[in-house]
Amino acid sequence: MSVKSSIDKVLRSTIQSTPGQTEFYQAVEEVLNSLEPLLQAEPKYDYYNILERIVIPERQILFRVVWMDDQGKIQTNIGYRVQFNSAIGPYKGGLRFHPNVNLGIIKFLGFEQSFKNSLTGLAIGGAKGGSNFDPKGKSEGEIMRFCQSFMIELSKHIGETKDVPAGDIGVGGREIGYMFGEYKRLSARFEGVLTGKGLNWGGSLARTEATGYGSVYFAENMLNKAGDSLKGKVCTVSGSGNVAIYTIQKLYDMGAKPVTCSDSKGMIYDPDGIHFETLKTIKEIKRQDLSEYAKMHPKATYTPVQDYKKETNAVWSVPCFAAFPSATQNELNLNDIKALYSNGCRVVNEGANMPSTPEAIDFMLEKKMFYGPAKAANAGGVATSQLEMSQNASMQKWTFAQVDEKLQGIMKNIFDLSYKTSQEFGYEGNLMLGANIAGFRKVADSMIDQGAV
Ligand code: NAP
Repeated sequence: MSVKSSIDKVLRSTIQSTPGQTEFYQAVEEVLNSLEPLLQAEPKYDYYNILERIVIPERQILFRVVWMDDQGKIQTNIGYRVQFNSAIGPYKGGLRFHPNVNLGIIKFLGFEQSFKNSLTGLAIGGAKGGSNFDPKGKSEGEIMRFCQSFMIELSKHIGETKDVPAGDIGVGGREIGYMFGEYKRLSARFEGVLTGKGLNWGGSLARTEATGYGSVYFAENMLNKAGDSLKGKVCTVSGSGNVAIYTIQKLYDMGAKPVTCSDSKGMIYDPDGIHFETLKTIKEIKRQDLSEYAKMHPKATYTPVQDYKKETNAVWSVPCFAAFPSATQNELNLNDIKALYSNGCRVVNEGANMPSTPEAIDFMLEKKMFYGPAKAANAGGVATSQLEMSQNASMQKWTFAQVDEKLQGIMKNIFDLSYKTSQEFGYEGNLMLGANIAGFRKVADSMIDQGAV
């Protein structure tokens, strides 16, 4: 059977056996198609049936989460933990609390995570979890009770050498704190079973900043290779959560000017550059909508989502040199990339997971734009989580500068590996292909070494 037919066979059986998991198919299709040159060169992956095996999680856990709201009413949500691949280390990957979470979304994230974690060069397998719980509009007490109930079940499946979850959309320091407290109560052990912990109780300096900082380091590496840099460049950023906030901060450090940010209700364009402290206060401390920003900065304009042009994201209509999608999946489509390109944008660097649609990616590759794919560009968060695990295991505490330096080294290595792999297979500069092949190869070779498991 030809390589193309083997890939198509696995794609077809994935769709047949797991109906309705659209985002998961999208992630699988992107990875498998970009592996074609490797599979042509190395028949062993076909011989050992790696493709068939790698698209099926080792284990997926789905559970009921029951909690009581402030009115004394019983509420029910669904909890997930998908332990995708442990060939190279214990499972590691975030938890997402968002009303649109379903099994297909958690599976796409867990599948991607396996290759992302492999790219970091660290010994971590891939997993993802979460719930369709919506933290928005909930009281502190409700969030705490939900997190505790979620952990009562999750605690049976995690452990510091087994599976170490972290945050993602809707799960920040507050939620990690409530879950860690409950885990400790249930197990009577103080251990590094979650990352993204508070600095007083085992957290690592620079973990909060790591995904955003790492994303900017990756973009800078990409530009440096071509003799350019972010210095003096206008940039657009979507989102206003953990990744977006620290992407914006690091862009300023690099001498660039980030002029946009967004949330689920609308977007801000500030021609003077997004005011970092205002953004942080509104979103991290007061947990308000971005419309508040425009009230404090009269030159800034706020556009609500209902005013976006049909099938576009208004963030990408703002002229820029580099775009940093840092909110959610499929937030940058073909219309958006065409608008970006015609306004002079030459870089798209993915802080979010799978933010660009397949059509948008094809366009970027065809135009030879600088494209930093998510599993490489946003790997700084999970890499620093592993640094948190190392500090916990050795009972050490590194300084911010020490962690940041390691993060910079890891992002450079990820860029170099992705670039070198793209060259090796004759697609120089196609970092999507380079990252997918490099991430896959290490996981697949480890699976072969470990036999039929
Ligand atoms: P976060 O702190 O919860 O922030 C998410 C941001 O995206 C918020 O501004 C949110 O708006 C916005 N958003 C969420 N869903 C949206 C939707 N459907 N449409 C428009 N805007 C939406 O989450 P985060 O940690 O920054 O994660 C952002 C992305 O980065 C995700 O794709 C995540 O998987 C990825 N990522 C995160 C990490 C990490 O370390 N945190 C690591 C790697 C990758 P509201 O404020 O209105 O909710």
